[in-house]
Amino acid sequence: MANSQLAGTAEILRASQKDEEYMRYLRNLTADITQRCLGIPFWMRWKDLSSSFSDALFFGLTTLSGLQTLGEEYANIIQIDRSLKSIPSKWVRFTDISLRTFGCYFLLRFQTWLENQLSLIPQVESNDDNTYITNLKAFLPIIFKAISVLQRIHLIAFYFYGNYYSISKRFTGIKYLVIRRWLSNPDQQAPYKLLGWIAATQLCLSLAINLYAASTKPPVSIKEKESNSGEAVNSKNQCSLCFEKRSYSTATPCGHLFCWSCITSWMQNKEECPLCRESFPPSKLIYLQNYY
Ligand SMILES: [Zn+2]
Ligand SMILES: [Zn+2]
Repeated sequence: MANSQLAGTAEILRASQKDEEYMRYLRNLTADITQRCLGIPFWMRWKDLSSSFSDALFFGLTTLSGLQTLGEEYANIIQIDRSLKSIPSKWVRFTDISLRTFGCYFLLRFQTWLENQLSLIPQVESNDDNTYITNLKAFLPIIFKAISVLQRIHLIAFYFYGNYYSISKRFTGIKYLVIRRWLSNPDQQAPYKLLGWIAATQLCLSLAINLYAASTKPPVSIKEKESNSGEAVNSKNQCSLCFEKRSYSTATPCGHLFCWSCITSWMQNKEECPLCRESFPPSKLIYLQNYY
């Protein structure tokens, strides 16, 4: 593969977007079959896992079977391992698919489980264990925030250097080669670098604002937070898009609640529920008056 050329940001993005189209179609199909065969309550309970299984099926039938995905075929690219000499082994492909399809699901499950476990532990005054647990409770949101910052840094790195669009590919070292080089334009990296600079500036600004807010605000202990239940952000009054206390609660037809501004801006891109992916037109949104 002496004349081989690594795929650029444009080719990888084009392949991912095409794959996402087919994966969305397969997710809807899986959801429909699950709802018809096992009932809507079952699907509501396991919908996240159902989407992960649907994605795993897509990659199982393509990548794991030694074939290109439909997006890769469309963008004329092929997966290559770290050595840039052969296609990734079956185990590497399996690890990539598992991380990509189930990684986020299990991370979110683990976060919820850990928060539940910590909230179940009774508070005992002046106890070393208690201090440790209080510290852990305070640091838990910071740890999970750090994970989301790392995801953004990963995306910025992709805009600058290409190669890895998904974190699972960075972890497994799977890159892409262009099959038909004459179709690739090496100069097309520049606009993505600009996008990288914009994303990096945005990340730096949001981190600076968060740090400034944290330094000017007096520290609030967990206990004060919990006793002040009227203001506390909990899972019942939290918006799943901005993770803040909901303002102007708005319901989707599937029954999920968000801030009015969050869900309306979300729907400008995707006409579906961010949580359960049920599709509906924006006119179906219901602003809940006198409900917080
Ligand atoms: Zn919101
Ligand atoms: Zn929903």
